Amino acid sequence: MCLKGGICIVVILPGMLKFSTVPVLSPIGFHGMKIKVNDLSQHHSVFSQYMAEIRDVTVQNDSLRFRRNLERLGEIMAYEISKTLVYETRSVTTPLGISECNVLVTHPVLATILRAGLPLHQGFLNYFDRAENTFVSAYRIHHNDDDAFDVEVEYLASPDLEGKTVILCDPMLATGSSMLLAYKALLERGTPSHTHVATVIASEQGVGFVQQNMPRETTIWTGAVDKELTPRSYIVPGLGDAGDLAYGSKQ
Ligand code: URA
Repeated sequence: MCLKGGICIVVILPGMLKFSTVPVLSPIGFHGMKIKVNDLSQHHSVFSQYMAEIRDVTVQNDSLRFRRNLERLGEIMAYEISKTLVYETRSVTTPLGISECNVLVTHPVLATILRAGLPLHQGFLNYFDRAENTFVSAYRIHHNDDDAFDVEVEYLASPDLEGKTVILCDPMLATGSSMLLAYKALLERGTPSHTHVATVIASEQGVGFVQQNMPRETTIWTGAVDKELTPRSYIVPGLGDAGDLAYGSKQ
């Protein structure tokens, strides 16, 4: 399906999932209430240092550092999101006595959009080490003649998601269409009770799109909100192509 503005969306899900076309602008959760955005650039911390490095063209030459910085950003985001989760008190036996400790009631499911999301996912997994994991592919197929592109979702590996807290991560939230399509693919495995959308750099447009189209039980976490998109929907100033910087260019 092609929409005004040149964005065409095709969703192809293999196996048990039927081939289908999803109209991206049909809001699945328009609810008249703004989804909360937590912009971590509002507070200065070592997070800001890692953000500066992943954006910096000279530091980007070191792809190991780029991946590791994404992972570190994921770790810090995991810590921030962990403050919103539910804990219970448990008596823990130490060598010297009993300590009343707070532990997670349930662990979130970590869901990641391949392939750029992988280093960020690893960062989340370092902190939520007992998490179940979901992987979904979403990639753009650019047309030669213009700036329009298809977003294809064709792979989903996921546990049951019904009633669970999900952290859905992708380092770049540009138009928001990949994020929405990935979320819709997850619904094939059940409806999460809450979805934390975690991204390193969002565009204003992407944030608005998620706010309009995702269910009310969503929170956005981002390392920065940039103002512009190029005609090919790259974020400006952004950082370039996160997948290529982490894993090399593709054909
Ligand atoms: N994906 C990227 O890797 N970079 C952008 O700017 C937008 C989408």
